[in-house]
Amino acid sequence: MPITALLRIALVCLAGASTAASAANAAPDRSGDGEAAFRELYKELVETNTTLSSGNCTLAAERMAARLKAAGYRDEELRVFFVPEHPKEGGLVAELKGSDARRRPVLLLAHIDVVEAKRADWVRDPFTLIEEDGYFYGRGAADDKAMAAVFTDLLIRYRQEGYRPKRTIRLALTCGEETSGAFNGASYLATQHKEWIDAEFAVNEGGPATLDAQGRHQIFGVEAAEKVYQDFALETTNPGGHSSIPVPDNAIYRMAAALQRVAALDFPVQLNEVTRGFLTRMAPIAGGETGAAMRAIARDPADLQAIATLSRDRRWNATLRTTCIATLIDGGHAPNALPQRVRANVNCRIFPGVPVDAVREALTAAIGDPAVSVTIAEPRSIATPVPTLSAAILGPVEQVAAEVFPGVPVLPMMTTGATDGIYLTAAGIPTYGISAMFSDPDYGNVHGLNERIRVRSLLDGRRFHYRLIKLYSGQ
Ligand SMILES: [Zn+2]
Repeated sequence: MPITALLRIALVCLAGASTAASAANAAPDRSGDGEAAFRELYKELVETNTTLSSGNCTLAAERMAARLKAAGYRDEELRVFFVPEHPKEGGLVAELKGSDARRRPVLLLAHIDVVEAKRADWVRDPFTLIEEDGYFYGRGAADDKAMAAVFTDLLIRYRQEGYRPKRTIRLALTCGEETSGAFNGASYLATQHKEWIDAEFAVNEGGPATLDAQGRHQIFGVEAAEKVYQDFALETTNPGGHSSIPVPDNAIYRMAAALQRVAALDFPVQLNEVTRGFLTRMAPIAGGETGAAMRAIARDPADLQAIATLSRDRRWNATLRTTCIATLIDGGHAPNALPQRVRANVNCRIFPGVPVDAVREALTAAIGDPAVSVTIAEPRSIATPVPTLSAAILGPVEQVAAEVFPGVPVLPMMTTGATDGIYLTAAGIPTYGISAMFSDPDYGNVHGLNERIRVRSLLDGRRFHYRLIKLYSGQ
């Protein structure tokens, strides 16, 4: 993407005025910790449509900048950015300067774009924040406007209470996380303007915090590693011909056979510091045969019995190895003609540290048919190192979790999904997924219909991050 970046340092006066007014006449805050103002901010963010098809991330960024400005942030501490080619896919970088320049900043990353949502498919309007039966409903209510709102809100509170951190706190609200191929703000900042976001480490979404079906806290995940997302394009061609005189060599059959071999392919089991830690801590929680297998694998990753047991569960199987699965297929050009070209997409989630080329070779070898080509689909992912999970990172999480979520086990984990953290880690900013927003077993149906988050979970997450970022920035 040619980036002839013309940056507009948006003086957010217009939005500033209206938001300053709304901040001024917000409902009186009885909680004493600014909850009413937070609810206003969260509502404004969720109700600013930021879908790629019809939304505007830059407007959402301006509105958050206006709230920071109303709280006393100066223009030089706020930067609304976008590139001319994508005026509606902008974001915000904000900064609360620390008193000790020797300490590198901490970065708070949240994406403000959301997955598409059709009014007709939802029970309620996806772009109106609705509070009902202890839940907030709306597109992005959980993913990821909960964290974007909590991070913006804590910067406001820190400034209002005159908190001066030792370490600078930087906030990046970005667009493009939910859509591959569109403008990605995190990638842009990491590659084009690292100086705006540079930090010793970053806190991001991810690290699932789960409730059981009765709403009881189960585990508090800290995402310390992320598998690498990579698509591979499979293709086979054939001379074709008239379907009334068929021959055995058929492009669709050839692709079907190739995909059957991909389906049968199991990548070797691997462990890293994070997954070994996860399995060790998860074993007593899982208990039973699963728990025993987790303990066994953490001791010996070649334990076949334990591998067989854990591979039966899709979550643990994906935690132990690279996975590849067919997700798209298309072929043939006419119902009465033998197919000439068939294409398929195989989506892989690669274990950190494994080169993308090695996976392409493994797929090619498994297929074992030179007539089926396997190529790395664009965009080609960057192999990222596994960040170390030091006591300086995990300690404060465990400390605050014990205060806000007493008795809930904190588990370092590798997520099988992908976040924008991958761009920061690749740019040398170790990134940790610490959501602290406890979700129902279905993750509040993020990306799906009627996305929701428990009001209690959001407010607890707010309390948690307010304390955690004080600890990190006061270190
Ligand atoms: Zn997200």
